[in-house]
Amino acid sequence: MFLVPLFFPMDAVRLDQRFDTWYIIGMYMHATISTREELEHHLVLTEDERRWFEANGDSLPLLISTYYLSLMNPGDPDDPIRRQVVPSIREMDRIGLEQMDPLAEISHSVLPRLIHRYRNRVAFLVTDRCATYCRHCFRRRFTATECSHVSESELDAVAAYVHDHAEVREMLLTGGDPLTLSDERLMQVITTIRNARPDLVLRLCSRMPATFPQRITDDLIARLKPHTCSALYLMTQFNHPKEITRQSVQAVARFIDAGIPVMNQTVLLRGVNDDASVLEHLMNLLVANRVKPYYLFQGDLVSGTAHLRVPLEKGLELESVLRSRLSGLAMPQYAIDLPEGGGKVPLGRSYLEGKDESGTWMFRTVSGEPRNYPDPD
Ligand code: SF4
Repeated sequence: MFLVPLFFPMDAVRLDQRFDTWYIIGMYMHATISTREELEHHLVLTEDERRWFEANGDSLPLLISTYYLSLMNPGDPDDPIRRQVVPSIREMDRIGLEQMDPLAEISHSVLPRLIHRYRNRVAFLVTDRCATYCRHCFRRRFTATECSHVSESELDAVAAYVHDHAEVREMLLTGGDPLTLSDERLMQVITTIRNARPDLVLRLCSRMPATFPQRITDDLIARLKPHTCSALYLMTQFNHPKEITRQSVQAVARFIDAGIPVMNQTVLLRGVNDDASVLEHLMNLLVANRVKPYYLFQGDLVSGTAHLRVPLEKGLELESVLRSRLSGLAMPQYAIDLPEGGGKVPLGRSYLEGKDESGTWMFRTVSGEPRNYPDPD
């Protein structure tokens, strides 16, 4: 039987240097799996997984929280949790047009950690660290690259930038995962930005509710709550119903009860959630737990992720089936972030077929039946 304790005795825990010291010592123990030996205590590697370790490549390192590992069926090599976090030699495949920076974030960076791609919003990379590294990560060029947490001078420069750019209406606090910062460091970031621009809408982008929900403590929420006088959203990433657990539901509930709306961005992943019933179940679970499914993302053209991407045609089919099964509230927007910094565009079949000879609009219903809609005279 496979059992992983969520909380380890003090002497059994390896303190993870990649987290803030305060975060580790002052709050609770965080146990992670980061070596082949540790992983092999829990599962038998497949041939593709074993070859990744032997290749010793320079791809994203292994890091899995013991909580997230506990969601996995270790006897199933195709487990949807496993596919998201256990590396495979397939990450060494190189496919045409794939890049380390397919969204051209580097060329849109106005400061080393600040991306200004869309006129009205910026992304602030406050750290390169996460509780668990996802093999599908679209920001592999930055994640786990030892850039570490944002410095005070970098933070001041970002605050000055948004102070001087009134056209910026929203800021994504992202990375990496901002919740790897200690509460103190995170509050320093938020307070500095809020002082510079009290009106700015902040989006806290974190996968912790799915990968390490124990991070969402009462203390964290109490510190965030005073910052909800201007809009503060949590943007999270649940990709499979197995990630909806008692602990993750409690984590998102804490945000919502404190006045922080929670939106979810699912990544469409081959062998994980490329199935209409799996996605339908996930979206309904999210809505039932007060989380709005926001985006369903087509995989970006990131080097080393081809084996996890779903063909676009299959994604369009899934979108069509989901639209016939889900309510508007539960339906996420299927979207693609276009290569070379082209930005996000929505995907999905059109139900508008054009105009007939008399100028009346012609539609198809979700089930394919024709309908007409005349404009007023
Ligand atoms: S949590 Fe986000 S930033 Fe971190 S590895 Fe996963 S997708 Fe990348």
